[in-house]
Amino acid sequence: MTNFVCGVKAMKIRISQMEEGHHTFVESENPQAIGLDDTNRFSRDVNIRVEVDKRGRNFYIREIIHTRARFECDRCLEPFVRDLDAEYRVVYTSDSEFLELDEDIRYVAPDQSEIDITEDIRESVLLAIPIKLLCKQDCKGLCPRCGANLNVESCTCAEDMIDPRWEALKKLLR
Ligand SMILES: [Zn+2]
Ligand SMILES: [Zn+2]
Repeated sequence: MTNFVCGVKAMKIRISQMEEGHHTFVESENPQAIGLDDTNRFSRDVNIRVEVDKRGRNFYIREIIHTRARFECDRCLEPFVRDLDAEYRVVYTSDSEFLELDEDIRYVAPDQSEIDITEDIRESVLLAIPIKLLCKQDCKGLCPRCGANLNVESCTCAEDMIDPRWEALKKLLR
């Protein structure tokens, strides 16, 4: 674990004396420590597995992240918990020719002693949050009229609901 530093607001890979080849680091970190400050949402630790393949001046990094977060359903407003999984790959190199090949290749100075992956991990977790948050795929939501949660109860609003366009037409005909 000597090649991996886990501290306040920082997860760093020590590269200064890293041996060639494959390295794996597994850590469990407090969400706030990696900038996930929404304490109500991220109440559980973030599990992180970092794989580094060092080949000369290139560091092939793979970050696998797992956590669980609390959300509110977009339709019925009920809270629910969902697992979040993310994976991020990036290459660090001090070889400038290699750098131009792809946007996921970043520069690391030859004398740099560590690579900070905190921001990558934070962003990966945030990107893993689905845009549409539903407690279940077929959530029936709330009745727009009486507010009943249609997943657990039924109401009679739909039956006596009158289309407002018909109301306007009726007035015209009068
Ligand atoms: Zn729902
Ligand atoms: Zn209703």
